[in-house]
Amino acid sequence: MNIDGSTTVVGLFGSPVTHTASPAMHNAAFKALKMNWAYLAFPVEPRNLRGALLGARDMGLRGVNLTVPHKLSALDIVDELSEEARKLGAVNTVLIENGKLRGFNTDGYGIAKAIKTEFNFTFKGKRVLVLGAGGAGRSIAVQCALDGASQVLVANRTPGKTDPIARQMAETKTVFRAVALTTDDIARVINEVDLLINATSVGLLEGESLGLDPKLFTPRLFVYDTVYRFTETELLRTAAAAGAKTANGLNMLLHQGARAFEIWTKHKAPLAVMRRALNAAVYGARK
Ligand code: NAP
Repeated sequence: MNIDGSTTVVGLFGSPVTHTASPAMHNAAFKALKMNWAYLAFPVEPRNLRGALLGARDMGLRGVNLTVPHKLSALDIVDELSEEARKLGAVNTVLIENGKLRGFNTDGYGIAKAIKTEFNFTFKGKRVLVLGAGGAGRSIAVQCALDGASQVLVANRTPGKTDPIARQMAETKTVFRAVALTTDDIARVINEVDLLINATSVGLLEGESLGLDPKLFTPRLFVYDTVYRFTETELLRTAAAAGAKTANGLNMLLHQGARAFEIWTKHKAPLAVMRRALNAAVYGARK
């Protein structure tokens, strides 16, 4: 890909961004489709998010992805919100069009596609336990409800942080319950759920563990970890050893990225190319 005077620029705003695999995934897609586009990662501090987004608009960028810690604060900065971003209460993709910042959420779509791809079911009628109530946990829990999950339980280390999820879910028919993120509390509800999703950042560092008792896991349970840095996190290893069906977060990353690609370019995303690029970027060096 030759960058020149007519290259269309998109990118990622976050803090930190050095670990991201998104540039590899998107630039591989642009190359495969022979598009004169480039995806770059920009370290943006929380206090600079507004300036960075307005600057991106004024400099002619086509759009950006937002990652930790910007997904919630962007809600008050963008000019328009898509239906999904409003319902999920977080923005992870911004399209810059006709001088306007338009906020989207593709994380909800990403998790639903990942669960379908990995486990071959949808959230409809399912009972789901989500660990974590940050940007990802909130999007995932509300997406489960929008897709017809019968129950969504959310366990978070800091209790009050589940309140916005409860409010967001009040518009749906799904039964919501907050539980504490402890082995004892999870032991009380684990037999009532079909699927457990880790949306905490525990597992991002090698060997990091939620410390859940291995006895919580059984062969009837599906366990999805949104962490994708390792093929198997401590949580997935423990769950798989007990016979549970497991998958890591790579497919969620792929599908949220593919949807963002389509929002910006209006072209169908080349999924196979993007998946290959992601695998090489995340696991290549460790193979
Ligand atoms: P965030 O908004 O910063 O939220 C972090 C969450 O992790 C909070 O619920 C926090 O609990 C919890 N947490 C952090 N340290 C913990 C600990 N030691 N013990 C228990 N809980 C802890 O981040 P986010 O955007 O939601 O991202 C969370 C995870 O999702 C990250 O691992 C990220 O990589 C992953 N993710 C993956 C994808 C994908 O495409 N695969 C997309 C988005 C996010 P408190 O509220 O108590 O602090």
